[in-house]
Amino acid sequence: MTREAWASAEARRIRTVTSTASISAATHCRLDAFLRQQTVLWNAALEERIDCYRKTGKTITAFDQMKSLTVIRGEDGGFRQFNVGPQRSVLRRVDRAFQAFFRRARAGGKPGFPRFKARHRGIRSFDIPDPVIRDGSLRLKGIGRFRLPSVPAGRILQARVVKTPLRVVVQFAVEGEVPDARPSEPVGIDLGVKDRAILSTGETVPAVSIDRRPLRRAQRAVSRARKGSASRRKKVNALRREWERTRMRERNALHRISASIVKSRNRIAIEDLQVSNMMRNPTLARSIAEQQWGRLAEQLVYKAESAGGSVVRVDPKHTSTDCHACGHRQPMPLGVREFACGGCGLVTDRDVNAARNILQRGIALAGWDIGPLGRPGASESVHEPHVAGLPGQDAERCTAD
Ligand SMILES: [Zn+2]
Repeated sequence: MTREAWASAEARRIRTVTSTASISAATHCRLDAFLRQQTVLWNAALEERIDCYRKTGKTITAFDQMKSLTVIRGEDGGFRQFNVGPQRSVLRRVDRAFQAFFRRARAGGKPGFPRFKARHRGIRSFDIPDPVIRDGSLRLKGIGRFRLPSVPAGRILQARVVKTPLRVVVQFAVEGEVPDARPSEPVGIDLGVKDRAILSTGETVPAVSIDRRPLRRAQRAVSRARKGSASRRKKVNALRREWERTRMRERNALHRISASIVKSRNRIAIEDLQVSNMMRNPTLARSIAEQQWGRLAEQLVYKAESAGGSVVRVDPKHTSTDCHACGHRQPMPLGVREFACGGCGLVTDRDVNAARNILQRGIALAGWDIGPLGRPGASESVHEPHVAGLPGQDAERCTAD
C-alpha cells in the first residue's frame, strides 16, 4: 500500500493481514503462466503508451486501455481464462508508473520512461479487487486454490498475491473495528546504543543479530560468476532466496520485539531517529542497527495506535548527558556505562537515564496523564538495572522462518 492509502486506511480502520498460502504444483504452474501473461500485458500497455506519447505528445488513459483489454479478452481465450480484475490491476500499475513519469518530467530534467520488464524479472504480484474465499481458500479463476492458514476476521476489501523467491503470500486489506484498549503507563525507550534498546523501566531489549554470512557468501558467488552465464543466473536466484530469508528473519524478530513491548504498553516515547541520523557514525554495524531501530519504531507506531495508544518521537539531544532527576548536564563519554550525577548524586545506568529523559520529553509533548508508577523520578531503585528479555522473546526462535 502507498503512504496515502495507509493514511486513509488509518481513518477507516483498515489493516493488512499477510499469510503464506499453500498451493499445489499445478496451481504453481498456472500462477507462473498468469504472471508471464501479466508481464506481457505490462509491456504491451507500456509500449502503446510510449508510442502514442512519442507520436502525439499525449497519453492514453487507463480507461482506454481497459477498453482494449475487453476487446483482447473477446478474441483471445488465453486472456479470457483468467479473471479480469487482476488483469486490470496491471494496467492501473502502468498508469501509476506513467503518472510518476509525468511528475518527474514536470519537475524538470529528462526522466526515463517506465521500464519494460524482461521475463526473468517480470511481474511478481497482482491485486484481486473482489476476492472470493471459501473453505479457507482463496480461489482464482484459471489459476486455482490458495489454501490459507487462517481467514482474517472482518470485511475483506482487497487481496494481493505476491510470489517471492521462497513462497506465495496473500495480503488482505481488512476493514473492521479495532478494540479500544485502555492507555497504559507511558514508557520511554532509548534506541541509542548499538546493540540494545532500554526501557525507562529498566528492561532491556537486545538488538536482533541475524547471521549475514550466508548472504555475503551468496553475493560473492554471484560476483565471481561469469556475466551472462547460466551458472550466474542460478547464483543470482540463490542470492534472491537468501536475501529474502535474511529479510524475513529480521522482520520476524522485530515483530516479536515490537509485539512484546506493545502488549503491556501502548503509550511510548522514542527518539526521533531522523534527528539522530544526522549525527550518524557511518560504520556498517551501526547503520544496520539504525535501520533495524527505524523499522522497530515504525512497527511500534502502528501497533501502539491499533491498540488504542500512541507513540511520540522526541528530540534525542542531550538525553544521555542530562540527569533525568535534577537536569544537571555533564559530559558522558561513550564508554561510561553509569550515570553518576554531579548535581544530585543519583547513580543509575546510562541508558536507563536516557530512556527516562525520553519519557519525560514524551510526556511533555503528548500531554499524557500519568499514574504514580509512570511519574519520572518516582522510583529511584534503578541503581541495579533489571536486565531481562521481555516476555515471549527468545533469541533462538528469531531464526525460525
Ligand atoms: Zn541529578
